[in-house]
Amino acid sequence: MKLASAYGLPLQTPQTSDIEALAAEILQALKYRVGKDATVATQYDWLTAAILVVRDRIIDHWVKSTKQAYEQSAKRVYYLSLEFLIGRLMRDAFSNLGMMEDMRAALGSLGVELDVIATLEPDAALGNGGLGRLAACFMESMATVDVPAHGYGIRYANGMFRQEISDGWQVELPETWLDHGNPWEFERRERSFEVGFGGTVEQVAAKDGRLERHVWRPQERVLAVAYDTPVVGWRGNRVNTLRLWAGMPVDPILLDAFNAGDHIGALRESNKADALSRVLYPADSSPAGQELRLRQEYFFTTASLQDIIQRHLSQYGELHSLPEKAAIHLNDTHPSVAVAELMRLLMDVHGIDFDTAWGITKGTFAYTNHTLLPEALESWPVPLFERLLPRHMQIVYAINAQLLHEARTTGQFDGEQIARISLIEENGERRVRMGNLAFAGSHSINGVSALHTELMKETVFADLHRLYPSRINNKTNGITQRRWLFQCNAGLTGLIREAIGDRFLDDIAALTELDAFAGDAAFREKFAAVKRANKARLASIVAERQGIKLDPSALFDIQIKRIHEYKRQLLNIIEAVALYDQIRSHPERDWMPRVKFLGGKAAPSYHNAKLIIKLANDVARVINRDPAVRGLLKVVFTPNYNVSLAEVMMPAADLSEQISTAGMEASGTGNMKFALNGALTIGTLDGANVEIREHVGADNIFIFGLTAQEVAERRNGGYAPRGVIETSPELSQALAAISSGVFSPDDPNRYRDLISGLYDHDWFMVAADFDAYAATQRQVDAVWGDSPDWNARAIRNVARMGWFSSDRTIRQYAREIWNVPA
Ligand SMILES: *Cc1c(COP(=O)(O)O)cnc(C)c1O
Repeated sequence: MKLASAYGLPLQTPQTSDIEALAAEILQALKYRVGKDATVATQYDWLTAAILVVRDRIIDHWVKSTKQAYEQSAKRVYYLSLEFLIGRLMRDAFSNLGMMEDMRAALGSLGVELDVIATLEPDAALGNGGLGRLAACFMESMATVDVPAHGYGIRYANGMFRQEISDGWQVELPETWLDHGNPWEFERRERSFEVGFGGTVEQVAAKDGRLERHVWRPQERVLAVAYDTPVVGWRGNRVNTLRLWAGMPVDPILLDAFNAGDHIGALRESNKADALSRVLYPADSSPAGQELRLRQEYFFTTASLQDIIQRHLSQYGELHSLPEKAAIHLNDTHPSVAVAELMRLLMDVHGIDFDTAWGITKGTFAYTNHTLLPEALESWPVPLFERLLPRHMQIVYAINAQLLHEARTTGQFDGEQIARISLIEENGERRVRMGNLAFAGSHSINGVSALHTELMKETVFADLHRLYPSRINNKTNGITQRRWLFQCNAGLTGLIREAIGDRFLDDIAALTELDAFAGDAAFREKFAAVKRANKARLASIVAERQGIKLDPSALFDIQIKRIHEYKRQLLNIIEAVALYDQIRSHPERDWMPRVKFLGGKAAPSYHNAKLIIKLANDVARVINRDPAVRGLLKVVFTPNYNVSLAEVMMPAADLSEQISTAGMEASGTGNMKFALNGALTIGTLDGANVEIREHVGADNIFIFGLTAQEVAERRNGGYAPRGVIETSPELSQALAAISSGVFSPDDPNRYRDLISGLYDHDWFMVAADFDAYAATQRQVDAVWGDSPDWNARAIRNVARMGWFSSDRTIRQYAREIWNVPA
């Protein structure tokens, strides 16, 4: 960890007087706010004190930003997301405020090492993977490009599980990120809202006897209490709010039950409320389908909408102007019950008629779709939805009646197409389709890469798109360069500043000036030295945590992301096995030393994903121990992949593995982080890889395999993987080795079914793409053997990745969806 600061140029040169003043402030915070004296303070106490000192500065900006938005009657953006994968905040805050070096020096003068306490900060893992990390990058970019915004989500007491590897298997442990308190957040007890579940709906008659209003009388009630975290943009420009809700009982203790001697039953309400914000469902790209999940979705959605309405009413006094002053964004379908909830609040609580309410709703909401996987599209059984949310069920039916009427009136849809547009799935068990509900209730529906958006129009939303052809649009994902370059790769950032000056720090488009340096031999040497130092840092972490010794001069080939069959870690592992065979059979050849890193979590209930983790570890054990390999190939599974580990691994990669089955990865953002840090990509034409190729140039990326269209054709045209496997000796041999227990002598049948699945159906086209993948890996070796060429390509990747900044993405959302200046 120490290496990072050794070569990074500080954003500000520390001044002695500033340092002394800062050190005094830290001591003050330690004494009066942590309640400790320097002589007895633990490292955690120093961490808290350091954060509090910086937090004070952030609060000054926060108050100013909030006041300004109010005074200017600015339109606000509300980003509703069930996940925010924010990671650690301290370094990001120091870096964005330009205080990194001052804080390092001030802490140093007190005998405290910044890099040591930084590793103690808990990694806030309130998300599964890409979707949650996107929400976090967006929050930072909205603050940076000066969009007044609130993020809304759940304050999970236990976020994403901590992964340990035991005997090669994934073991899930609770991540208790709040154990040492959370100095970043502010509890707002006064900002709490009631949330109801179940019960009945009553119709209240007006004086003339006509039905006037619906009154929902929930059977259960809990409170949502706000916890606010300030989100600071680059150079402290603007500070926005991430507001996370925690469940609290309306009656913490049921006194009647307690007095009657039922001491445990008396806490019933407390436990129920607590459950709402206890755990994050650890499934990525597949819906949890559990009642508690629907409760969580409704819980945070209604609290957020009530909060938004209260803020709007206090400023404007009426709700018809909501679409002009509030843009509410639905990050995937998880908050899409919001469409029915806003209708309920407008009609039942605020007395607005259906048609007007529907206009306000559509004018206010926009929705981002994140996946086309059919199994990932959220829907809820009608009986469950009706029991928990009886009034919302009525509203969904009312919206549906209008939607289907509109579709029928066009005369353009047959019965089957109407059935696909419906908010209710009628085949088999009746279910509420949350994607269709979000689509119907939004004025904008966006995909997250050009390819994904096109496929969305052709598949899941084909009929709704025909009905409302102007709604679907594309917003290719992005990443914040502050975290994913400036903060995590101080060495490269310093080098770029030396080469092209500081303009790119504020205008990432200026990064293209680095392109000219790809041909500069001296620069290439420096670039390689930075990469090498980053690799040495990763190697030392792996040595310390896993006892595996790695050579930083080997090619570092990295695949880190959630473990999922469509992401095809299996393809990568099979290629490692095939390469292992080749190295042993042809020791005379000039093999390029390579380390294959794999990392990622599997959903605890996803059998094959967990088996793939075990396979990676089994293969690693055999290969790493085999003297015949002579260290030319190593395989390392890095446990507990999270944002903090990503911050170390992205800068250390030579090769980025983005090898999903074409058509299945909506965008990917890991692909962007790697390329921005100077890794070359090996990948399929999937998600944002397509656009990365357009930006970095086809010569600076390794593309292989079937296209999305070819995948679809094969699936329709009776793809026969067995024949494909039998014509590839390399693949057949690798599969035979895995299947027969070469890597699992303790349980030779462990991988039999996994491998026979490839022969039988191979839905993810592993066999179909294997030969192309393996051949492309040998091309990678050839280019790696020519370091000046490799480094030139890597430099061009860095230079040309600026477009993938989430600042660009957010500006597009702001102008084209939210209608706010940016
Ligand atoms: C960026 C990121 C992801 C997303 O990775 P993909 O390769 O796009 O799936 C997941 N987890 C973490 C911790 C990340 O930082």
